[in-house]
Amino acid sequence: MENVFNENAAKDFVERYPDIPYEFALRIYTSRLIGSEPDLVLHGGGNTSVKLKAKNIVGEEEEILYIKGSGVDLASIEPEGFSAVDLTFLRKLRNVESLSDEEMETQMQIHKLELSWLNPSVESLLHAFLPHKYVDHTHADNVLVLTNQKHGEDIVKKALGSKVAVLPYTMSGLPLAKEVVSQYEKDTTIEAIVILNHGIFSFGEDAETSYARMVKYVNRAETFVQEGIRGKILMTPRVDIPPCREISVSVARVAQSVRGACAHQANDGSLRRFYVATRNTSDLVKASLSKEARGLCRSGVLTPDHVIRTKNRMVYIDRIPEKDDDLKEIIAREIEVFKQEYHDYFHCQVREKKVEREELDPYPRIFLVAGLGLLALGFTPKDTRIAADIAEHTIRAKLEADAIGEYVPLLDSHIFDMEYWSLQQKKLGKSSQPILQGQVAFITGGAGAIGFGIADRLIAAGAVVVLSDIAKSRLEKVRSILAKKYEESKVETIISDVTDYQSIERAFDEISGRLGGIDIVVPNAGIAYVAKIEALEPQKFDQAIAVNLIGTFNVIKASIPVFKRQGTGGNIVTISSKNVFDPGAAFGAYSASKAGAHQISKIAALEMAELGVRVNMINPDAVFGDEEVSSKLWDLVGPDRMKSRGLDYKGLKDYYRNRNLLKTGVLSEHVGNAVVFFASNQAPITGATLPVDGGIPAAFPR
Ligand code: ZN
Repeated sequence: MENVFNENAAKDFVERYPDIPYEFALRIYTSRLIGSEPDLVLHGGGNTSVKLKAKNIVGEEEEILYIKGSGVDLASIEPEGFSAVDLTFLRKLRNVESLSDEEMETQMQIHKLELSWLNPSVESLLHAFLPHKYVDHTHADNVLVLTNQKHGEDIVKKALGSKVAVLPYTMSGLPLAKEVVSQYEKDTTIEAIVILNHGIFSFGEDAETSYARMVKYVNRAETFVQEGIRGKILMTPRVDIPPCREISVSVARVAQSVRGACAHQANDGSLRRFYVATRNTSDLVKASLSKEARGLCRSGVLTPDHVIRTKNRMVYIDRIPEKDDDLKEIIAREIEVFKQEYHDYFHCQVREKKVEREELDPYPRIFLVAGLGLLALGFTPKDTRIAADIAEHTIRAKLEADAIGEYVPLLDSHIFDMEYWSLQQKKLGKSSQPILQGQVAFITGGAGAIGFGIADRLIAAGAVVVLSDIAKSRLEKVRSILAKKYEESKVETIISDVTDYQSIERAFDEISGRLGGIDIVVPNAGIAYVAKIEALEPQKFDQAIAVNLIGTFNVIKASIPVFKRQGTGGNIVTISSKNVFDPGAAFGAYSASKAGAHQISKIAALEMAELGVRVNMINPDAVFGDEEVSSKLWDLVGPDRMKSRGLDYKGLKDYYRNRNLLKTGVLSEHVGNAVVFFASNQAPITGATLPVDGGIPAAFPR
């Protein structure tokens, strides 16, 4: 790891933030240097601080601790990512015997400089008690490889030298803060402190010194580890399993099955689904096929901070049988064992500690799968990626730790304290649960106006949306609008052709690898031609059938194995047309193919009810896009329609508005709202048709 502190870059930061003291700007700079190194901290792990003087509202000078806000990612931290607390008061807490979680939180809240600021890091007191202007803290992988050992203390001392103090593991908060400052006072020449099974703190009077010390000692740890593992075999391959042939298909099958098996009823009675992220670097695949694999899964986390993301242990799936039912059985069995052990761990700890806690869900977050690598679960796509990254680092670190000695994780008792610590739980946030939270929606024709409107409403309702289309640049445009409006992780795209069954199958496999599976399928891609039968070229008719009818069939058919493996039901909402009930002359290719799509959807409703999958149809009429995303359909047929009715674009819009009962324009978001209604299972409906057309008597379903 390189010391990348650069004078010019540091100056840039000071100039970039003219409204804050330069020492604070430098704090932001070196915090980001630390955050951008994944071997030091991962996603919100670690914390940094600076102590400054500032005038309060009555003009008195106060000492302030600027400390990273809880859960903030150091890599992209801004001034607002820090909290500021009255340092003089915090120091007095050293004289307090003990502090309950609630007291600690209250004291932090009432001594913040601004009420609106973030909750200060759970390690604030430690930063406050140390006298140094700058304190940096990381959970560096290489340091943990040294500490999580039978003789961790000796190894750390040997590797890092005499200027580093080593403390046994103590729970973060007041007790650890007291231990650390006493240790420092015993020997004020030390430059850093390592807490066994937790991480390392470095400190100094200026930002560069504290950062440089962190780099120096982490590098020493790395050198020691590299020398220790040189020439050693980290993994021995299992010989009893053939390597996977079609990795993407297997990943999809396992991800869908795991996702289904871990979906469970939440306290409010709704079905809680996970998203899944996959990792298959060659090292992980090798680890998954090694004799060490099960042991890697059985041993606990590198640092307790990780437990809220990954749980303490992982699940090992030792083979992938050909048959889906056999695969499901293996997965179900392993999850059952995991749940039982989690349950036992919880009850045992509660009993021993004589505390009352509400048990968290007992489902695993990490699966190591023979031949595939690892799968991570989380309630948001972001959570899954965090868990996957942590697990990837964990597996590598455990293998290295075993090569230089023996990996020894923390006792369950310490893990429990961290997992069920109210301050730690806050990092995960109390997310209110939108109605489609946890679901993945696949929309064909995703680059057009209706696809856009449907995606917009589904994301707003909590789903993650996958837009599919053949029009790459339009697709990217829709994606970027939605990503800007919501967040990047809420919208994915995939190029696929509904007329090609295999293309759809591949798309479903890929989506399952990225997100775990699919819950809502919206066959929406459509094309139209304006021509009377006499003039309609057979080839154009074929094309309409291929996209509108065969496309719908392909998407429905390809979804069936996915729904079966997940076993959690789902929704198909076919975007049909007002023309199915009320066709128009010169619109034969469109009306006939849409009628076919409508009919095949009804058949799907009959056949898929036993899977818990509901299939419903929406019949929109005359949905125009807007300037941002135009309707591809109306781009195609609009000019002909205008010509035949002698109207301009606005006139055509008015014409359609005035022909319905409610005299209203139909927007793509109206169609989207109807999709959300069906997809959210608010009423037991399948095989139904819902017109979204402003009211056209001739198109009333009957
Ligand atoms: Zn820590």
